[in-house]
Amino acid sequence: MDLTDWRFKLYSRFWKSIDNIFPPACVGCGKAGVYFCDECEHNVSPIQYGQNELEEGEYDEAERNSFYSARAFAYHNGVMKKAVHRLKYKNDLGLGKVLAKKIIKTVEDNNWIIDIIVPVPLGKKRRKDRGYNQAELIAFPLSHFLRINYGPNIIRRCKETRTQIGLTVKERFENVNGAFEVIGGSAKGKAVLLIDDVYTSGATMRSAAQALKDAGARRVYSLTVTRANDFYAQEIW
Ligand SMILES: [Zn+2]
Repeated sequence: MDLTDWRFKLYSRFWKSIDNIFPPACVGCGKAGVYFCDECEHNVSPIQYGQNELEEGEYDEAERNSFYSARAFAYHNGVMKKAVHRLKYKNDLGLGKVLAKKIIKTVEDNNWIIDIIVPVPLGKKRRKDRGYNQAELIAFPLSHFLRINYGPNIIRRCKETRTQIGLTVKERFENVNGAFEVIGGSAKGKAVLLIDDVYTSGATMRSAAQALKDAGARRVYSLTVTRANDFYAQEIW
């Protein structure tokens, strides 16, 4: 049994007991007892890659910009938008595991060969204010489900950035440029899967990916629970 196994068992047991004391409510409609009731689950439509020209175009663009692949489970609307919002702002930490389970299929569908799963880190101040990093709450259980190493400490924010909300794409890229730093030689030669909750302009992901590439990562993939579906229409790169 490796370290991740017993940590995950403790983690699961903890959340199970929390769920017993405070039963979850459906993220879509509030129905008691489950995170996704059957009806709301039915309304979730995972993004089908490879069947949509826009997605293919974005993939090429992403590849040129330091990713090999940038994928999301679903668009940032409806039930999934509510789920991400709840994970991020309402302290509903047990939801991370539920969302991790959902995005397994996206990893498998892409046939990625991954050495290490890494949550996109928050700045020290933001993490302290929120009390947790929502990306970790997804990445940790995901690494367990997929039996892939978990590396929360291989990259960190070296620059405290302001929130991306309300910024144009250009400002977003400037804001996070050089914001990440890889620790030692921990990424060298590795295929890294970066995990975050939402992909909006892609600025944060790309900045983190660039830092990993600069530190010798062999490949960088990115996966988020949701991605903005209207961002490209409003702004240009
Ligand atoms: Zn529901």
